[in-house]
Amino acid sequence: MTSLNGKVALVTGGSRGIGAAIARRLADDGARVAITYATSKDKAAAVVAEIEAAGGEAMAIQADNRDGDAVVAAVETAVSAFGRLDILVNNAGIFDIGPIGELTLEDFDRTMDVNVRAVFAAVSAAARHLPEGGRIVSIGSNLAGRVPWPTISLYSLSKAALVGFTKGVARDLGPRNITVNIVHPGSTDTDMNPADGELSDTQRGLMAIPRYNEAGDVAGLVAWLAGPDGRSVTGAEFTIDGGANA
Ligand code: NDP
Repeated sequence: MTSLNGKVALVTGGSRGIGAAIARRLADDGARVAITYATSKDKAAAVVAEIEAAGGEAMAIQADNRDGDAVVAAVETAVSAFGRLDILVNNAGIFDIGPIGELTLEDFDRTMDVNVRAVFAAVSAAARHLPEGGRIVSIGSNLAGRVPWPTISLYSLSKAALVGFTKGVARDLGPRNITVNIVHPGSTDTDMNPADGELSDTQRGLMAIPRYNEAGDVAGLVAWLAGPDGRSVTGAEFTIDGGANA
């Protein structure tokens, strides 16, 4: 496909899992793609090599989401390297769990830094560069809208925060014809949540279609939002969870 020819995308947390699938898919659709990673240098390099082997252009940037300045610098590095930025995908995230009363303020700060503060930093920096027709997509979670088990309160807090932020920024950037949306995956087979993990049967038990997403399923939805057919969709939430929240 070529619907993103000439576009440049930045995907945070593109070294593994959903972010890597999004990076590969946007590149397949014609975009030049920058990815960030925290520690997986080799895996990030492998994603870049795979995109290049398929005839695309990509680069990897080390930027820990715990450091807002590093996230801003990653946006600037992508713009300098590729000359523009059209699509920002806020994907990097962590899943810290524990019962309330045992979760600490340090846990709170870590989760909010990675899952929320870094998104604010990236969106703020990208907003200075995104042209008419630009796209912002954040990866939330179906756990933002429904919390079916204990111990998830902090993670759900962080992902729910992105919903309000998405809607607010959609209003800010709408006059510039930039769309801003959030995609809420349910159980998706990655290192974070393997389909053969200890709790995977419990998760499948909630679903109308009891099958984990593959990362590429989420990437397809992001690619649609990033592409020309998504131009009138903004401030919206998309749940892709096999009906777990239905
Ligand atoms: P993985 O743990 O498989 O991959 C996480 C990615 O994010 C890696 O590329 C990792 O980089 C990066 N990352 C993690 N912490 C940081 C950090 N501090 N700074 C920069 N990058 C970081 O997760 P998934 O692919 O499963 O998850 C991707 C997103 O989807 C997350 O936001 C997650 O909350 C969300 N999600 C996932 C679901 C699932 O079932 N898998 C369900 C719902 C939402 P590195 O390799 O360097 O560590």
